[in-house]
Amino acid sequence: MVANKKLDIVITGGAGFIGSHLCDRLVQKGHRIVCIDNLDTGRIDNVRPLANHRNFTFVEGDVREPLSIDGPVDRIYNLACPASPPHYQRDPIGTIRTCVLGAQHVLELARATGARVLQASTSEVYGDPEMHPQAESYRGAVNPIGPRACYDEGKRCAEAMFFDYHRVHGVAIKVARIFNTYGPRMLENDGRVISNFVVQALRDQPITLYGDGTQTRSFCYVADLLDGLELLMESDPAVTGPVNLGNPREISVKEIAAMVVAQTRSRSTLAFAPLPQDDPRRRRPDVATAARLLGWQPRITLEDGLRPTIDYFALAVARSSHGTPRVDDSAPQRHETSAPRARRAPLTVVRGSA
Ligand code: UDP
Repeated sequence: MVANKKLDIVITGGAGFIGSHLCDRLVQKGHRIVCIDNLDTGRIDNVRPLANHRNFTFVEGDVREPLSIDGPVDRIYNLACPASPPHYQRDPIGTIRTCVLGAQHVLELARATGARVLQASTSEVYGDPEMHPQAESYRGAVNPIGPRACYDEGKRCAEAMFFDYHRVHGVAIKVARIFNTYGPRMLENDGRVISNFVVQALRDQPITLYGDGTQTRSFCYVADLLDGLELLMESDPAVTGPVNLGNPREISVKEIAAMVVAQTRSRSTLAFAPLPQDDPRRRRPDVATAARLLGWQPRITLEDGLRPTIDYFALAVARSSHGTPRVDDSAPQRHETSAPRARRAPLTVVRGSA
């Protein structure tokens, strides 16, 4: 059961795709939210409707710096990290630092405040899996030196640190392994398959299939994912995870293209492009653990979830139709150099002051 008590909740990455939906939902439930985001891949527009809410504080800050909050903290959701391959690979050292230092900083905050802390881990910890579907007991097949390693190994290291803080310091942890998720507020230039295909279809541009399009993924609608995250956070303290959260319906990339073209009534044709290095061939979560421990299962079909997603992108595409960059031109809006930065003061949040 999800608690009714009003809680003080910190959400890192709270202006991002998943984080901003979580902010909406938890504010609506009466909780007090501090949303921390460096606006690298997060967008202030995602949380603008909450800006004047008395229970919502936005702080532009980076989890690579130590965090401190004045007053109580009951829960921390650590969602801060670029998550699409083009975005997490464009500054790989920044990504690995976000994963590892970010984990340490939220864990230290949890240790200092007694908060429970949930790590948004990922199906990428399974790499290009030899076991199918992937259960939490599977240890994965990750290339530790490949272009995806900054994210995959960063997230694996973060999981290790979570469990070490739990064992060494007794921090109350929850680790969710999030599989491919989609919905409104994904970035148009995200580079991910659903956002690319929908935007290309809406513009009648060629649909870029990488490889032969037979590789598979399983797509969870964002509302289903939020149910799982919240249930995991509020589960019995003995439940640490890792728990897979994703939709077990497996579909090939080629089938997704056909579905998107049909739903958008697009005139787009298919354009084949090389498969990126280390691109997993198959991915499907085994969600038996989430069903058993949380009573959770996804409910929204891909057909149903695509509708609001397409509606969202239709508006975004219409808004940016003048001189819009193509989705392939996923140029960074902000870029942290990989060079070591001058140390800054720790981020101290005073509620209501941001
Ligand atoms: N993909 C594709 N065309 C695109 C974007 C992605 O064929 O325009 C493929 C990609 O190679 C991968 C799958 O779709 O096999 C899912 O890619 P995505 O970047 O969404 O996420 P991943 O699960 O690989 O992290």
